[in-house]
Amino acid sequence: MFSRVLIANRGEIALRVIRACRELGVQSVVVYSEVDRNAAYLRCADEAICIGAGPAADSYLNIPRIISAAEIANVDAIHPGYGFLAENPHFAEVCESCKIKFIGPSSKVMAKMGNKIEARNMAKASKVPLVPGSPGAVETENDALKVSHELGFPVMIKAAGGGGGRGMRVAHNDISLVKAFFAARSEAEAAFKDPTLYIEKYVERPRHVEIQVLGDEYGNIIHLGERDCSLQRRHQKLVEESPSPVMTSSLRESMGKCAVRLAHAAGYFNAGTVEFLLDKDNNFYFIEVNARIQVEHPVTEMVTGVDLVKEQLRIASGEKLRLKQRHVTFNGWAIECRINAEDPSNGYAPSPGRIDTFIPPGGNGVRLDTHVYAGYEVPGAYDSLIGKLIVHKPTRREAIACMRRALDEFVIHGVKTTIPLFIEVFGDSRYIRGDVDTGFVEELVSRG
Ligand code: ADP
Ligand code: ADP
Ligand code: MG
Repeated sequence: MFSRVLIANRGEIALRVIRACRELGVQSVVVYSEVDRNAAYLRCADEAICIGAGPAADSYLNIPRIISAAEIANVDAIHPGYGFLAENPHFAEVCESCKIKFIGPSSKVMAKMGNKIEARNMAKASKVPLVPGSPGAVETENDALKVSHELGFPVMIKAAGGGGGRGMRVAHNDISLVKAFFAARSEAEAAFKDPTLYIEKYVERPRHVEIQVLGDEYGNIIHLGERDCSLQRRHQKLVEESPSPVMTSSLRESMGKCAVRLAHAAGYFNAGTVEFLLDKDNNFYFIEVNARIQVEHPVTEMVTGVDLVKEQLRIASGEKLRLKQRHVTFNGWAIECRINAEDPSNGYAPSPGRIDTFIPPGGNGVRLDTHVYAGYEVPGAYDSLIGKLIVHKPTRREAIACMRRALDEFVIHGVKTTIPLFIEVFGDSRYIRGDVDTGFVEELVSRG
């Protein structure tokens, strides 16, 4: 095992990795920007190093500064968390060439998976069903029209380098397609510095169901079942659960096999997620691979009993997977809510500021992954995620009841949060029946 690991991230995921290191007897070194200098989680690490000013370009996205910190602190490895540099193959490559172990897949595999067109091609070659779409990049609006006529409207225009729900547009006819094409192209260029687009058939009312995979550096790959992330707003996840309410053991087996087959074909190792859309008839279609730990990993941890971040550290340090597929079992029901500092009554605009009161829920079945507390100042410079409320109970019914009482206990004053939205969700009969798709939250919100 490593003796010292640097964490190139902030907030709840930085704390999550610090905790895993501590439990494994590994020293942790966390980097921070000037904006985060007073964050309490910095004290949980063995060392904290300031790497620059608040803007991510000067700190959490600044590769030379992070590598300098890693060299000064003399670490063996870097954990990138999620977001920021987690899926940047150049960063993984720099780590590799500096002989600092990058805790994730190889830079080569990450580069392949990070391009959604290449990932689709690999899925196709591995006989994994994928959403029908353009065979490759769509260069011009005329190509876009041609492909869309072949697929049939509605279609979705997507950025090859996309992530975080950005750079995608739905089009229902020729006129909206041309508009969507140019809008998606400029968004992709601005957000990902890559204007490359492709087109998929728009799957109507799907569920988002993804498979967690774990692979070591010797070619052993297993899956840890699914997460249902159908509750989304603007293609960003808000609530995730495991198992999926519509899952059957044979569907899990076939989705799991596809995910593992793709991971093998790619030469994937460490933790990763293969994302699918699931239609009404339980047909599934590959959409992308996330080559990192995901925000919603705790629901998988609760039902499988596997600590995914510790597994990431073990795998990266060269250990073999101890788990075989037949050892993976699923226990009970877990649900996660992403507590964002956003104002539901103002279009979910970010709501940074000082948290005056913070009374967290607790008790049987409740897990809270957060770095915030009363007196904490939520910066406006970063993602609005301030915590993840996770419940784990024997059945879905009990998990929902537990989530409702935990949301009721939770008091956060000073910033607006997504808690009121979740109280509505967990009281909604459609959600309780498990009868949802990726449009559910927006319909709930527009109903008011
Ligand atoms: P998940 O929630 O499934 O882990 P997300 O796509 O929501 O995955 O991404 C997690 C975090 O990473 C979010 O903070 C998101 O904004 C960020 N993110 C994901 N992909 C990118 C990308 N290509 N560029 C910038 N940020 C990204
Ligand atoms: P990102 O990299 O931003 O996470 P994804 O390709 O994973 O992008 O898609 C994010 C979400 O957008 C999905 O969970 C789903 O809700 C929606 N989506 C993506 N592709 C399609 C599609 N072809 N049809 C319908 N919805 C889609
Ligand atoms: Mg995705």
